[in-house]
Parts: sequence; structure tokens; C-alpha cells
Amino acid sequence: MGNSYVRNVVESVRAKYPHQPEFLQAVEEVLLSMEPLFEKESKYEENAILERIVVPERLIEFRVAWTDDKGRIQVNNGYRVQFNSAIGPYKGGLRFHPSVNQSILKFLGFEQIFKNSLTGLAIGGAKGGSDFDPKGKSDAEVMRFCQAFMTELVRYVGALSDVPAGDIGVGGREIGYLFGQYKRLTSRFEGVLTGKGLKWGGSLARTEATGFGNVYFADNMLKAVGKEIEGKKAAVSGSGNVAIYTVKKLYQLGATPVTVSDSRGCIYQPAGINLEVLQQVKERERASLTRYAELCKDATYIPVADYPAGEHPVWNVGADLAFPSATQNEVTLADAKNLLSKGCILVSEGANMPSTLEATAEFQKAGICFGPAKCANAGGVATSQLEMEQNAGMTSWTFDEVDGKLKGIMAGIFKAAHDTAEEFGQPGNYVMGGNIAGFRKVADSMIEQGVM
Ligand code: GLU
Repeated sequence: MGNSYVRNVVESVRAKYPHQPEFLQAVEEVLLSMEPLFEKESKYEENAILERIVVPERLIEFRVAWTDDKGRIQVNNGYRVQFNSAIGPYKGGLRFHPSVNQSILKFLGFEQIFKNSLTGLAIGGAKGGSDFDPKGKSDAEVMRFCQAFMTELVRYVGALSDVPAGDIGVGGREIGYLFGQYKRLTSRFEGVLTGKGLKWGGSLARTEATGFGNVYFADNMLKAVGKEIEGKKAAVSGSGNVAIYTVKKLYQLGATPVTVSDSRGCIYQPAGINLEVLQQVKERERASLTRYAELCKDATYIPVADYPAGEHPVWNVGADLAFPSATQNEVTLADAKNLLSKGCILVSEGANMPSTLEATAEFQKAGICFGPAKCANAGGVATSQLEMEQNAGMTSWTFDEVDGKLKGIMAGIFKAAHDTAEEFGQPGNYVMGGNIAGFRKVADSMIEQGVM
């Protein structure tokens, strides 16, 4: 069954990396969805594009040694996966989280290739990070870690070669310390990182961009089936940057976000999440959601531990729209069934690969609007590219200018995924449409640039 070229490459990746489950999942999801393309076109097989595209151009792993507040030496692993530079300089975030390893970063870097291509901008795919956990660390410890991390990373990055940004565990504070150290080591004030502070080269609307972009994408999907976002009840997971600005944009478009979550629990607030309190607790106090529940008397805190294993309460409150904005594989098959049985009509992925392969298949079988991460959360990296553009031109644009461009980019991604899905006879399949549209631009560029 299926296309033999695709199946053979998937098999060889499976055999080679049995210990990299997240990377295998990402490869399978992308490659298997594109079978109709390989039935039609032989040039990709003749040029061994799939065999090449699943191998990073470069994977750097390095030691990060730093001293904690008690004077003890701590050691973490640092990484940068420079996956593909066919269409532009490497671009992608840094993740600081204890779960970070080669499998996680290869999955993220692989996804980033196609996501970045879909934005229509000239950015290649990369990802990096460390198993360092910023949680519970003092600002001084985070600073020393970031300085040690950049002391090694500096050899591999630059405004025209590789431009990292944030991801889980890396926000404005970390980008500041990383940028400061880069400048100190190189004497160059340049756009080597995005997500910078507004006083020193950052772009307005970058902070908001991933969440805003996801809601714009959802809006496009709903309009295509004659529905609208206004008046809908939305479940949002996560409580980081993506979740916060998803909540904000949902309110602006007339929907009611009723949940946010973290790994330990879920806030359910039928009248709507209190954005002010959420920002206070998460952006300023860096506290947990139990604190949010203390401050909002009409909110219920549901601990994950009270729930069956493999199910998260956030997906079982009964919502029209779902915005998974926490982390990979947070939506299981059981969660998908809970969402669907309570009438969910749209899932739009703010996190990277938040739905398991089984959950995605369930949503597709049900025929609801499903916005895969590569399309739906591409607004973040797209706005990073707008930040690079402003840095290169030594200028800065207004919030409305950047937001307007973001909106246009999300509409462009929707059109590319929509039209490509139609071209291959599966209207509304944005997984297939997005993957093929993103892939073709990179693959054709690789062919034109020769064997490497
Ligand atoms: N980490 C974000 C992503 O997954 C943003 C990357 C960037 O801005 O370079 O796309």
C-alpha cells in the first residue's frame, strides 16, 4: 500500500533512529501525507530529495558548564540543529526544558523547514536548545547559563547564517542575556536573534504573533466553511506566550476562551479567562495556575492527577474550538474523542505537533476544520522574519503595520494549504496541503542548488 519511494524512506529512517520517537513521528506525518505528490512527480525520487531532507545539514551538540547560586558547577547539554538552508538562513527557536534531546530537536527542526517555507519568506529550518530547566532558577542563574550557552553557540550563528529565537523556556529574559553575550563576544550589534526587547531591535507584535496568527488561521478555516469565530466557546491549553495571545485575539474576534492549562492542571472559567490576571500570574509573577485560581474566584482548577491517564481535562469541558498551545503530543486519541463528542468543530495547533498521529487521524475522519501546527503557528516565525527585515533596514514598523503583515501572511499560508489540498483532490485537508506546499519550494530549491 502507498507510494513505495515514501514507504522505503520512512522504513529506513525508522530502522536508523529507533531511539528518536518524536523525530520519527514528525517524519512519518510529513512524508506519508505527501504520497499523492510522489505518485505524480518523479523528480524528487530521482534527486534523492527525501533521503536528503530527513538528515540535518549539521547537528551541533556542546557542553554548557555554569555555576549556580551556591557556587556549584552545573553541566547541561546544548544543541543547534541546522536542518535545511535551501531557501534561506537557518531560522528557528531555542527550547530550554529538561525533556530536550536530539529526538525532540530534530522533530522541531524538521517541522521548522516546512513551516518556514509556508510563510512564503526566505528562511531555512533549524532548532536548538538545552535540557536546562529555567523553572526554579534565579535570574542570575538563568543569566550565567545563557552566557555560557552563547559562548559556544556564537561560533555557529549570525544575522545572515543562523538566527535563533525563543520557544518553550526561552522568552524575553533569556533572549536578552543571549543577545548581550553575543554582542560582548563579537562586538556586533546585529539581528542575530529574534524576539528581542523593543528598546534594542525587537519588533512590535512579535510577542503576540504566534497566538494572534493561530486565531487568524482558524478564522480563515471557519470562513471557508461558511462559519464564524464570533460567539464561539474556545478551549485553549498551555499558559505561556502562545496561549496568552491566543486568548487575547479570541476575545478581540468575539469568541470566549474558557480554559488555560499547564502540565499539572487546567483552569476552567465558563464566563471567560481573565486575561489581566493570566498576564499578571504568568508574565510578571512567573507563578503557577493554582495562583490564578486563588485570584479568580469564579475559576475552577482541575488537577490532571484527578483525571484518567492519557486524558487532559482541558479537552473535556465542552468547547466549539480547540487551540492546543502547550507542547508536543498533548492531545491524545482519548482527548480527540472527548473534544468531538462534545461538539468541537475546529482544532488549530498553536504548539508544535500537539496532536498525536492517532488524534489527527480522528479529527480528519470526523471532517472538522483541522489546522496543523506548520500552518497554524507559523505566525511566530514569520514575524521573526519581519524583525530581521526591520533590523537589516535599521528601521522599525508600527504595531499595526506588523500585525497587518502577519494577517496577510496567515491568509497566504491558508491559501497555499487550501489550494494545494484541492490540487491533490483532498479539499480541506490542510495537513496534506500544507506539507506539500511547504515541501515543494524547499525540494525544488535543493534540486536547483545541486547535490549536497
Ligand atoms: N519557536 C517558534 C516556532 O516554533 C518561533 C521560531 C522563530 O521565531 O524563529 O516556530
